[in-house]
Amino acid sequence: MSPPTSLPESPSASPSGRGSVGLPVTPRRILITCGHVIGFRDGAHRHLRNGSVVVEGNRVAEVTGATVAGDFDQRVDCPEGLLTPGLIDMHAHMASAPYDRSFVEDVGKPGFYFSGLPELLPALVAALDPEAERAAIDFSMAELTRSGTTTVFEIGGRGDDTAAAVERAGLRAWIGEGYGAAKWRTRDGRRMSFDWKPDGGLPGLEAARDFCARVHGRAGGRIHGQFTPMQVAMVTPELLARTDAIAREMGLPVTLHTAEAVFEFHEMVQREGCTPIEWLARQGVLSERMILGHTIFTSGNSWLNHPGRDLAILADSGASVAHCAWVFARRGIMMESFARYRDAGVRMCLGSDTAPQSMLQAMRSASILCKVADRDSRRASAREVFDACTLAPAAVLGRDDLGRIAPGAMADLLIWDTRGVSLAPLRDPLRNLVFSAQPEDLAHVMVDGDWLMTGGRLLKVDAAAASAGLQRAAERVWARIGPGDWAGRGIDALSPPELAPW
Ligand SMILES: [Zn+2]
Repeated sequence: MSPPTSLPESPSASPSGRGSVGLPVTPRRILITCGHVIGFRDGAHRHLRNGSVVVEGNRVAEVTGATVAGDFDQRVDCPEGLLTPGLIDMHAHMASAPYDRSFVEDVGKPGFYFSGLPELLPALVAALDPEAERAAIDFSMAELTRSGTTTVFEIGGRGDDTAAAVERAGLRAWIGEGYGAAKWRTRDGRRMSFDWKPDGGLPGLEAARDFCARVHGRAGGRIHGQFTPMQVAMVTPELLARTDAIAREMGLPVTLHTAEAVFEFHEMVQREGCTPIEWLARQGVLSERMILGHTIFTSGNSWLNHPGRDLAILADSGASVAHCAWVFARRGIMMESFARYRDAGVRMCLGSDTAPQSMLQAMRSASILCKVADRDSRRASAREVFDACTLAPAAVLGRDDLGRIAPGAMADLLIWDTRGVSLAPLRDPLRNLVFSAQPEDLAHVMVDGDWLMTGGRLLKVDAAAASAGLQRAAERVWARIGPGDWAGRGIDALSPPELAPW
């Protein structure tokens, strides 16, 4: 978009390129003026027309509707621009999620209530190798930046590779190394069985603790650790209690996949005599530190016919939910509902979990699915889902300097070009963003006061090379799908292509 005065279009165009890596030197004092600014005042986002934002170093110094005088190292003037805070993705699996594309859509099994966890995920995971996972992580850096995610909460494995990629790409991240006391699998495509580890998963927790100590505070404080005991049905009370104690000691959050599949809900009811949420409450680990992934199948969900107090328990505990609407909608499943959880007082955040790793997709699907679930167009408004990937996750992470544009906040900023076919006409910027924006509308991205993208061009990541690398890796992965499936089926048997070959 133009005219982003003096904004480098590419590393080589920078007037003061840093010789060693060829990236633009970040100016110390920047004035950004946009036609529309989503600024933060008196506890809420507000719409400021023709606003100016002053960035000093890596923080916002001033937000104003008045003319700003003074000397600046860089002036960015975007009369047609929409300036918003960077978005926070609270549930990502960057080493594997890109491979969901072209594989998991349109297939599923009624006997597993359409969950992809029993058959599709194990087949894919067994076919991955470290190089394929690194290709997915590199691709994710481009995908996240391009679609406006500036902070990502990453779950799973390959933590050191992820930390290195995040450091290079300039993003902000909370990263965990997954561990558990059991693995689930199906041996016959009908039942799920659990293989419990003799060591109870404790060595995995120790490795996760070492990882957190190693990466926490890296990249000038942009990288943080977190603890990821993978799944509520795969942990023991001891593993959870020790995780909670260590996380408290280190001041880090914990995330746990919970109530994400009907078979998992039934497993917990049969094994423990209570819902997954009731069981976690009984273990004493539900607190403001705990971020539960998904939490779709709670008491009151129409697929369960199981009345109870799950939402009240969650609300009283202060635990939060990372809601990933799209990955479930694609399987014919929806939360009932985002607004009902919010009304109950549950702290609601959004995540991506799958492809596309885009918070635009996350906000849009969370809002629409809630309206459908509640049969009410007023539910899960643009502001509510925008809050769920800005202010709410910032509060969950204990960071009142993220997810907002206010004096003192980190300079994690997005400038959207409002002149494209997706965003015109613009009267209500949040509605246009949530219901219509595309990643291509995003023009400039700043994280920690540093430009990561200008004029639609990524400055720290080679997007074309990342896409090509992912394609090469995916072709290798697809050819290897089979051994991880209980019946040894190849990719075309598990996921038949939509079109017959020519
Ligand atoms: Zn997940």
